[in-house]
Amino acid sequence: MTPAESDLWFLPLGGCGEIGMNLSLYGHAGKWLMVDCGVTFEKRGAINVVQTADPSFIAERKDQLVGLIVTHAHQDHLGGIHLLWDQLECPIFASPFTRHVLQSKLRRERCGAPVVEILPGENLTLSPFHLEWLPVTHSTIESSALLISTEAGKVLHTADWKMDPNPVVGEAFDKNLWHSKLSDPVKAIVCDSTNATRPGHSLSEDELYEGLDHAVANSKGRVVVGCFASNIARLDTLAKIAKKNGRYLTVLGRSLKEMIRSAKATGYLDDEFETISSRDLGFLPPEEVMIIATGSQGEPNAALEKLASLCHRDIDLNSGDTIIFSSKTIPGNEKPIAQLKAKFRSLGCEIVDEDNTELPIHASGHPCQSELREMYAMVDAEIAIPVHGEQLHLEANASLAQEAGIKRQLIGSNGDLFRLAPQISIKRGVANASRLEQNEDGELVGCPNN
Ligand SMILES: [Zn+2]
Ligand SMILES: [Zn+2]
Repeated sequence: MTPAESDLWFLPLGGCGEIGMNLSLYGHAGKWLMVDCGVTFEKRGAINVVQTADPSFIAERKDQLVGLIVTHAHQDHLGGIHLLWDQLECPIFASPFTRHVLQSKLRRERCGAPVVEILPGENLTLSPFHLEWLPVTHSTIESSALLISTEAGKVLHTADWKMDPNPVVGEAFDKNLWHSKLSDPVKAIVCDSTNATRPGHSLSEDELYEGLDHAVANSKGRVVVGCFASNIARLDTLAKIAKKNGRYLTVLGRSLKEMIRSAKATGYLDDEFETISSRDLGFLPPEEVMIIATGSQGEPNAALEKLASLCHRDIDLNSGDTIIFSSKTIPGNEKPIAQLKAKFRSLGCEIVDEDNTELPIHASGHPCQSELREMYAMVDAEIAIPVHGEQLHLEANASLAQEAGIKRQLIGSNGDLFRLAPQISIKRGVANASRLEQNEDGELVGCPNN
């Protein structure tokens, strides 16, 4: 099955009908373009099993694959690259920060895949696809949508986005730029559905300073903040709050340290972002300590879990310390998070989370309904294809597109071929949509739930 000159196809192998393991293919004139190659985590007892989309459809035609574009530095978009690399072996393109994060991971996993740097706002032709990077705001820096132009039409692949007027680190969402880049009609918009059921507008990162500062200022002992490691803006906000409240800052957890290294290496988080070694924590009075830690989802072996179990080598928390969850509960993680909080409470620690604060302490990185409406009003698209969501989210996103006057909405799932040109249709189940997973030896094997 090879796309002809007149064909423009979209074929998701992962991320359509689910949130996680994004892997999208675009087909035109005998070639394929891949956008993102992520992982998902499945809970099996106390273990988090790493899963990827099954790439066999494209692996069987890898001579037709012109490249892989990585839209941003989240695991559900780049975490599968080292696992699938030997089946793809195509050029990889990513922005400087994303590339730094990816290369750290590739080195650790002993994967030699080369990654080419692309600056946000740059253009590239991977014939027969012409690509323009359109910067967006999201919960990590240097996130981009892609405008993919072909002789058979254009597609706007939004990837993950929100419209943040003040993202704290990085540029604000530039509506003028978007208007100018999207003055011509596009055949289809392939769009983030994560928050399509939520009314209103996502919070700006900038709106969290007050709530986080309030929580820290009211804490008497040590303050520990759990947040997502890749949210560089949140780290910046927390560092400012630590300084203002006379607390030394330290970070616990490998992923946080790696993200900070990548951010500093690519010009984000300047010298103002100062941390001390966790080995010094024991010498400081509790009221002068602030810790940012990984593991807000209750992950076993993460820093928060070690702190809650009193088995961190550098510090023992005790009664009077405060744990702030500047994060959301990813569906499926309710139980481990509740268990983590219970452990902290049994130590006498106070918990501050989204449920017991009046001021916001976490912002989502995905568009709510008013942003989706604004996007659909801005883009003159013939077809809307909701992705990056479960069925409920895809349907909610499709309704918004319809209300905004987009004539066709196509809802499908992984493995379906969305034919965008010359005729519009979905051919179901064209590619194998099962999953692969990493076994105990680190090898990729078929997933038993397939
Ligand atoms: Zn993301
Ligand atoms: Zn994502």
